Amino acid sequence: MIVSLILSSSFLRAEEGMIIPSLVQAFQSDMQAKGMKLSAEDIYSVNNSSMKDAVLHFNGGCTAEIVSDQGLILTNHHCGYYQIQQHSSLENDYLKYGFWAMDKSKELPNEGLFVTRIVRIEDVTKAVLQGTEGLKYVPQVEAKIKENAGKLIEEIKNTTHYEAQIKAFDFGNSYYMLVQEKFTDVRLVGAPPSFIGKFGGDTDNWVWPRHTGDFSVFRVYAGKDNKPAPYSAENVPYKPLHHFPVNITNREEGEFTMVYGFPGMTEQHVTSEYLKYVMEKDRPVRIEMREKSLEVIDAAMKASDKTRIQYASKQSRIANAYKKWIGQIDGLRRLNAQQIKKDRETEYTDRANANPEWKNKYGTVVKALIDLFKVYEEYEMADAVIIEYVFYGPEFLRLARSVESIADNYSKWSENGEWEERKGAIVASIQKHFKDYDVQVDQAIFDRISPVAKKHLKEEFHPLSFKEKSTEDLSAQIYGKSMLVNEEKLVGFIESMSAKSMKKLEKDPGYLLYRDLWDVRAGQLAQNLQTYQGELDLMMKVYVAGKLEMFPEKNHWADANSTLRVTYGQLEGSAPRDGMLYTHYTTVDGMIEKYYSGNEDFDLDDRMMQLYNEKEYGQYAQDGELWVCFSGSNHTTGGNSGSPALNAEGHLIGINFDRTWESTMSDFMFDTSRCRNIMVDMRYVLWVMDIYAGAGHLVEEMTLIK
Ligand code: ASP
Repeated sequence: MIVSLILSSSFLRAEEGMIIPSLVQAFQSDMQAKGMKLSAEDIYSVNNSSMKDAVLHFNGGCTAEIVSDQGLILTNHHCGYYQIQQHSSLENDYLKYGFWAMDKSKELPNEGLFVTRIVRIEDVTKAVLQGTEGLKYVPQVEAKIKENAGKLIEEIKNTTHYEAQIKAFDFGNSYYMLVQEKFTDVRLVGAPPSFIGKFGGDTDNWVWPRHTGDFSVFRVYAGKDNKPAPYSAENVPYKPLHHFPVNITNREEGEFTMVYGFPGMTEQHVTSEYLKYVMEKDRPVRIEMREKSLEVIDAAMKASDKTRIQYASKQSRIANAYKKWIGQIDGLRRLNAQQIKKDRETEYTDRANANPEWKNKYGTVVKALIDLFKVYEEYEMADAVIIEYVFYGPEFLRLARSVESIADNYSKWSENGEWEERKGAIVASIQKHFKDYDVQVDQAIFDRISPVAKKHLKEEFHPLSFKEKSTEDLSAQIYGKSMLVNEEKLVGFIESMSAKSMKKLEKDPGYLLYRDLWDVRAGQLAQNLQTYQGELDLMMKVYVAGKLEMFPEKNHWADANSTLRVTYGQLEGSAPRDGMLYTHYTTVDGMIEKYYSGNEDFDLDDRMMQLYNEKEYGQYAQDGELWVCFSGSNHTTGGNSGSPALNAEGHLIGINFDRTWESTMSDFMFDTSRCRNIMVDMRYVLWVMDIYAGAGHLVEEMTLIK
């Protein structure tokens, strides 16, 4: 139904929307009119191999694409960053100098890393909702949905080596099953040095003009039968159903582009009231809290190489969204987004009220949503503060969570005899944690962020420790005594764990603070937020159903939810502000310009300078220039990081990795004239591998279109 609604729309704008690939047929003619030379069947097919088979979900958060018949994959440098960091040390500083496996035996395994391929996407709305019609209460409906979905998933598991997932789309107006094949032997093959892979650092993140070579290279391994298998030296490179040819011919402004990947989350349907809260409360508080952590980490990383390696990945995790939110608020303000939302809400209710049936179904939902949020806003805010504090503040709070779950399971494990076996792995993971931990950095974070957390938490939500002690006293106690900030003490505690020793944990000041925070979150907050969420889900389902039904002339698309999507647009720049024109591409020349700015985020090495001075661009230049990045009007979000950027023929021309500053608001509201995604040009990627790094054997593995 949704598809035909979309087709009848004369306002269809190619740029907004993230299409479910199994529905791409409905867009085929529009895509072809805009230059695409492929058919829907080339993009997504269940019976034949198609492009979807070469698009992988990378570790559940990013996207990667297959570029050779030997399972070679590309993703972003920032997506492989944790793995690169884990293999790095002061002696082998792959973060700083890069890493290239010169043959397959040198490729590095990565514990815990996985990629998934989508086998098929099935609309299972009917089957999932079966038997829910007569049910009155939400928990009954939820239980029935869960039961129905469970059966479908079980069936896939029992009859194939695949896994399945069922996800709600449009707030439960439809459900799709994603059948997928999960590979767990994924090895690191190559990474450029950070001055290429992270060129521009935080200064340039979310910014155009951009010159980041944001790519890293991995390889998927499978068992001898080409099926997923746990890591083994016996495994062989995976033979894919499809791999993307890489196009190194000239690019043209305005040419068709398509991005195929796993966008994580968009929130196009939030109300004006909620958007106001995001812009005026939630984001500003989170920004202020992250600023505190970042002030400490950034300074410590600058002062010591050891800390730089230890905190590289953690710093990015905090800094990325931090900076995005600043741009987001600015963009939403400039767009006058709250007013646009209000106008749309008025239009929605007016349209509903003009028709008795719609009035009955949709007439009051906008007001109800707004009133509902006003009741629960304070809980949402408190929850946000605790989440920021625990997950992006001092690390001992996160460690406390792991230790809590070990303590909770201890008696079970010691009774069934598993404890001795598990103990070794637990100690190893604690050692791994402390390898990247600096207690002074952590304490400094605690000292700065705690007063801010305290300030933003309404007093009724203060954890007991905050009520009893000043944050200065807490700091002295925790960092003086807690086992959670001391490797030796914690390992000793685990090694001699017994039913009795739990008392020690319960008295630990660090653990106590975590427990107090969690008591607030799991108690007062969770009770209220669960009720809120239940009611919100119901109302949102109705609200979105109303949009679909009452606004057939509008372009409808289901919010991103970490499932595979296609989005298309053009290779183009933008004019995001008065007097400002963004060209559609950047070149190595721009890197040199930035280098001379003196900012250390723009550092280059001698080899790069030499290759630049000699204009040694090999077969990768266009009219004498080496393109680094280009931008396009493809609607993307986080999770699209690493996605293949494809041309009209389905050839790989770039790797998506970011959006421009003026686009960061697109998770709430997309603006076709301003929103642009940023891709690193495949010709630059190959140039780095081949000419800069001398890893031409990887390029030889690929299918080049010259
Ligand atoms: N650079 C982004 C990210 O890391 C990708 C995007 O949101 O466009 O999430």
